[in-house]
Formats: sequence, structure tokens, C-alpha cells
Amino acid sequence: MEVLFLSTTSKPEVWIAPLSAALPGDTIHVYPDVADPSAIECAIVAVPPPGVLTDYPRLRLIQSLWVGVESLLTDRTLPTDIPLARLVDPGMTETMTESVLQHVLNAHRYYDTYREQQAAGVWHQVRQVRANNRRVGFLGLGQLGLAGAQALVKLGFDVAGWSRQPKEVAGIQTFAGPDGFAPFLARTEILVCLLPLTAATRAILDVRAFAALPRGATIINLARGGHIVDDDLLAALDAGQVGRAVLDVFNVEPLPAEHPYWRHPRVVILPHIAAETDPQTAVSQVVENLRRLKVGEPLLNVVDRAAGY
Ligand code: NAP
Repeated sequence: MEVLFLSTTSKPEVWIAPLSAALPGDTIHVYPDVADPSAIECAIVAVPPPGVLTDYPRLRLIQSLWVGVESLLTDRTLPTDIPLARLVDPGMTETMTESVLQHVLNAHRYYDTYREQQAAGVWHQVRQVRANNRRVGFLGLGQLGLAGAQALVKLGFDVAGWSRQPKEVAGIQTFAGPDGFAPFLARTEILVCLLPLTAATRAILDVRAFAALPRGATIINLARGGHIVDDDLLAALDAGQVGRAVLDVFNVEPLPAEHPYWRHPRVVILPHIAAETDPQTAVSQVVENLRRLKVGEPLLNVVDRAAGY
């Protein structure tokens, strides 16, 4: 099979060696070096420039190297009759779970408070809360949210999750849909956002959502900057309604130097590093989808374009 590789976010050499080793019978062309566009049947892409995928008339699969496909779906020229598959990378799920554990445990054990006390030369013990009395909530119970939630259940936390469709998950209190949103927030002291960015989830963390949380809640956004209304978060932080925010993702990246988040004492800024794609672990899923394409089996992780994820 003739395969196109097109990434604007990572160097081709990072991917081409593991892909070529795993696909010995296929030919991988790195964009824009494609002699015969009509020979291309699969495009492996990471944030391709809008419009370029219309140049391949025999394309049968668009395989994203990104987990989130919101930028691909904003390309109005993206062929709608060709399946679009997103990446599910087991290595990334593991590293995202590490990020979840790091930030939830920091909030649970007042790590930032003790850093502030150290800076001020203060010796003060904040009363500990047992994990089973700490209510953590996940916006999104998909590949990443569910893995993080289950890791916290194993540590004994009181965990809930919110999803689009109702779900039953052992050890996790589940909420779903618009009606489940406010009750989910009301019981959540540490909120982890791992939603996809869609029309329904953009700006979901706004003044009303912050007001629905218990006072002093921690926000941990590991999903997309577009989930948060920045001015509302800053106002909620200043009013004490939100205690702290750990932000890995932003509406504009890199975060502009003049953005008030940089100087806010209760905001932790991370440069979109909660979980990187690992080509070594991600390639196997891409290869499996190509195998399925060749033999006509159902593809993995096909995006529901109407839902946006
Ligand atoms: P996923 O498997 O597609 O799961 C998405 C979850 O969100 C599902 O539980 C889904 O509900 C829920 N959801 C979607 N729309 C909803 C709505 N309108 N209302 C309520 N729940 C809704 O996605 P994933 O693989 O876990 O990835 C989540 C996101 O993480 C990605 O889209 C990406 O933006 C972000 N991400 C960030 C980084 C980073 O480094 N910061 C790295 C990778 C990914 P259902 O279960 O009912 O479908």
C-alpha cells in the first residue's frame, strides 16, 4: 500500500523509522514528495495544513497521530466520506495517568501550599484528609480520563466521572449529559478535565461551572485550553471560589508573555506536556488500522464527526 506521511508538529524521522520497520511491505511517502497522488490510499497525519488531503483521490483512511482531532475537524475541505481515525496510544495513556496522579496528589497533600509556606518561612501543618474523603471528579471518562480515574480508585480516592453517554464503572460514581453536570461539579473538590474539544465542550468551564463547584476547588486542565473561559477562571481564583488551577493547555500556545496566568500566584503553568505521543507505542495502533484497511475489517478509533470526537 502507498502511504502518505504528513506532520506539521513532529519531525518525519521520528516516525518514519518505526513505521517503515512495522510496515515492510508498504511504501511511505513524506509530504510533499509524492510522485503519484492517485496511488495514496492512507494518510498518516498530524495537524495537516487545511485543504491538502483533497489532493489524493484514492484515499481510504485518514489516520491522525494526534489523540484530539478538533483541529482536523475545523478543516471544511476534509473529505467527509473517508474514515478519520484518531490515535489511541497505550504509552500516552500511561504518561497521562502519571500526570493525573502527580497533580491530584499535589492538590490532595497541599504541595503548593507548603511551597508558599517555605517561601514565607512558615511552619504550619495543614490537617490531612484521607483519600477516601477526597472527592476527585473527571470530566471525560474515555481512554485517558478512565485510566486516571481508575488509578485514583486504586489509591482509595472517592472518584466520580462525567461522560456524554451514561456509563457504569466499578468503584466510580458516574454522571452523564447536561443534567448530570451540575450534580457532578457539586461533589467535586479536585476537578480533572480530560474532555475532547467539541462544540458541546468548548468553554464548558465558565463562571457557572466554577460557581457549581465546592468553594476552593482545584482545577486541573489536561485537555484543551478551549475548555476554559480564561477571564471566568481568573475571576473565580481571585474570589477564592477556585482555590488553584493547574493548566497544561491554553487557548493560545505558547501562552503569550503578557497573559495574567503567568503571574497568578495560584496558577501552575505547564507547557502542554501532560502526555506526549510515543512513536514506539503509538505505531502499533496505526499499523493495526492499516492491516484492517487492507483486509476490510472494521477500523479502530474512528471519529464520530457529528459528535466531534
Ligand atoms: P476519548 O477516549 O474520546 O474520551 C472522551 C470522553 O469525553 C468520553 O468519556 C466522552 O463521553 C466524554 N465527552 C465527550 N463529549 C462530551 C460531552 N459533550 N459531555 C460529556 N462528556 C463528553 O478521549 P481521550 O483519548 O480520553 O482524550 C481526551 C482529550 O485529552 C483529547 O481529546 C485531547 O484533547 C486531550 N489530550 C491532551 C493531551 C495533553 O498532553 N495535554 C494529550 C492527549 C490528549 P462518552 O464516554 O459518553 O463518549
